[in-house]
Amino acid sequence: MNERNPTTEYAPAQKGKLDPHAVATAFESANYYFDVAAQRLELPDDMQTLLKTPFREVRVEVPVRMDDGTIETFLGWRIQHNQARGPTKGGLRYHPGVNADEVRALAALMTWKTALIDVPFGGAKGGIACNPKLMSRGEIERMTRIFIEQIDCVIGPYEDIPAPDVNTNPQIMAWIMDAYSRKHGHTPGVVTGKPIEVGGIPGREFATGRGVEYAIVEAAAELGLDLATCTAVVQGFGNVGSSVARFLRDHGVTILAVSDSVSGIFNPDGLVINRAIQYKREHGQLKGYPHAEEITNEQLLDLECDILVPSALASVINRHNCGKIKTKIIAEGANNPTTPEADGALYGNGVLIIPDILANSGGVCVSYFEWVHNIQRFAWTETQALQELEKRMKEAYHATSQRAQREGVSQREAAFMIAIERVAAATNLRGVGDP
Ligand code: NAD
Repeated sequence: MNERNPTTEYAPAQKGKLDPHAVATAFESANYYFDVAAQRLELPDDMQTLLKTPFREVRVEVPVRMDDGTIETFLGWRIQHNQARGPTKGGLRYHPGVNADEVRALAALMTWKTALIDVPFGGAKGGIACNPKLMSRGEIERMTRIFIEQIDCVIGPYEDIPAPDVNTNPQIMAWIMDAYSRKHGHTPGVVTGKPIEVGGIPGREFATGRGVEYAIVEAAAELGLDLATCTAVVQGFGNVGSSVARFLRDHGVTILAVSDSVSGIFNPDGLVINRAIQYKREHGQLKGYPHAEEITNEQLLDLECDILVPSALASVINRHNCGKIKTKIIAEGANNPTTPEADGALYGNGVLIIPDILANSGGVCVSYFEWVHNIQRFAWTETQALQELEKRMKEAYHATSQRAQREGVSQREAAFMIAIERVAAATNLRGVGDP
């Protein structure tokens, strides 16, 4: 206990006592991975505390006039974790489970992700605790515009730049751009993941899925796997999950099962992904898809496969189910899908986990190109964006994999080590602790 300063919340975990079983929340999980890597780097304690402490946290009320005339008051957050390498960057999530701890964890992961893929941003995240599936388009638009008004003072193209995440999409990004621009003048660079017509970049919509695909291609080559004979299971069938399934199918991978929040679908001979995407589009869910057996999300994770791609929510791979997972590669399309207990057990069993901050960094990477294109007013083509993305994903993958092999650690630990070194270096160079 430091008597000068009673704050101990972000103090480094005691050396030698890092306990994955003691991790209870999403933010503790993100910080557990930080602590393991920071201690291997022998990062000084004061720098550990500084890098773990979120830079700024904003919680706002979002009162919305609903279609029936009543006012519903939602809670929203924007949490900016670290700005040492540039303006903060991170998605905006609309989901009933959004809370401060989750947003804080996702903001921290963005700091490490942007550093690892080496784009000049820090990390942030935002979210509104709401159920957009029970809201009309008009209600979602009003909620978005009011939220942006409330956080207007902390966002901006050189301050903090939101992007899509769970249940947010290019249309919502267009409303964000419009709400901000009405006050500050035309500012497309305030948000990424926009439709192309209002400053979006071709290729952004499926960039996260593309990045996951590129990482899997490199991992499979390292393990000597021929993708054309591999099987895969994908949890989550939204932006990330459905695009990864589609791109892996293009490599000849047999997609055994996919799922959404309601249920999973399984076909041992392989699913026709484009048909499943069309079914989901028409029916709003995968349940009832005719060419497959219905399974639960729990059963889906137990299926034997070569590649497992969690692409939905956090902590789905945990101590309860990690012993049943039978796969060679886990590519974390989702953020924070594996708890520290499960991570250690799976690494011990020889499963190659491509960690979230590497596997799903394609989204923020192409968001960076979109931001550059907005700031410079000079358009990129989809080919340029995807070529640059592939190059950067490959570089990040091999830097991580080589570091992991050299240090004898998991890819996750190696990825955190690289990212922490970069953020710590920027922090020291900028100067810290003096006015
Ligand atoms: P999305 O809203 O497009 O899709 C989410 C999918 O997850 C939907 O199919 C939904 O039905 C499913 N889902 C929700 N709850 C579930 C549950 N309990 N079990 C199984 N499936 C469930 O969101 P997205 O943009 O595809 O994001 C998915 C994940 O990828 C999130 O963890 C997100 O943080 C991460 N991610 C997204 C991006 C991006 O660019 N969109 C970038 C990096 C990481």
